[in-house]
Amino acid sequence: MRPGYFGSPSPEYGLIEDEGLVMIQGAPWSAWQRASPGHITEDLPLLAPVNPGKIVCVGRNYAAHAAELGNEVPKEPLIFLKPPSSIIGPDEPIVLPSFSQRVEHEGELAVVIGRRCSRLSDTDNPLSYIFGYTCLNDVTARDIQKNEIQFTRAKGFDTFCPIGPYIETDLDPSNVLVETRVNGALRQSGNTSLMVYPVAFLVRWISRMMTLEPGDVIATGTPAGVGPLVAGDTVEVSVAGVGVLRNAVHAARA
Ligand code: MG
Repeated sequence: MRPGYFGSPSPEYGLIEDEGLVMIQGAPWSAWQRASPGHITEDLPLLAPVNPGKIVCVGRNYAAHAAELGNEVPKEPLIFLKPPSSIIGPDEPIVLPSFSQRVEHEGELAVVIGRRCSRLSDTDNPLSYIFGYTCLNDVTARDIQKNEIQFTRAKGFDTFCPIGPYIETDLDPSNVLVETRVNGALRQSGNTSLMVYPVAFLVRWISRMMTLEPGDVIATGTPAGVGPLVAGDTVEVSVAGVGVLRNAVHAARA
């Protein structure tokens, strides 16, 4: 199943099937039913395919990325939150904030939670709580991040969380290629098999700190190769089996 979120005339979820797009009533991770009798042929704009209560991010989850910023691999997962207000969808612009002189891309595999997940035991299967997977760009004001202890401001600006284009429900998160390109040039390439803390470990571990609700998102960390974004760039995050999340970069609003 490959649900997306489509914007006409009012936003609705849809499923990408072999025959085309079919609209549904309800979120795809809840009880839903088909809204349209047949497949849609018109081109509807794609929106971010999630509307989470929280976005839990994992820092320094690839050893090579921790090293490139001069950091050790954390002894436990390093987690922080991005606000849902930072979310944009495919083809929406990332707007550079005037507060920062150094904004960087972080292409990541994102997990979408499918059912309520709290205090998982060692015998629970964390993957069974996952609805699917998508691409996420954990856009970061690196200069602010280096100057502040908390990550909230550096990671939380409006437009700093592109997500999409679709959610793929049939994916093995332990062995998938995550890549980032800027203006077509490859900047980041890493396989999720290189994660310090794999997806199943992260879901169980995070569920012991905070209850994960259906539709919540976990950004699982970025491979090595982070670098700057400037106005006029186009950045693409791809997760093999999911698709390509493409966003232009715009200058700060006056
Ligand atoms: Mg990140």
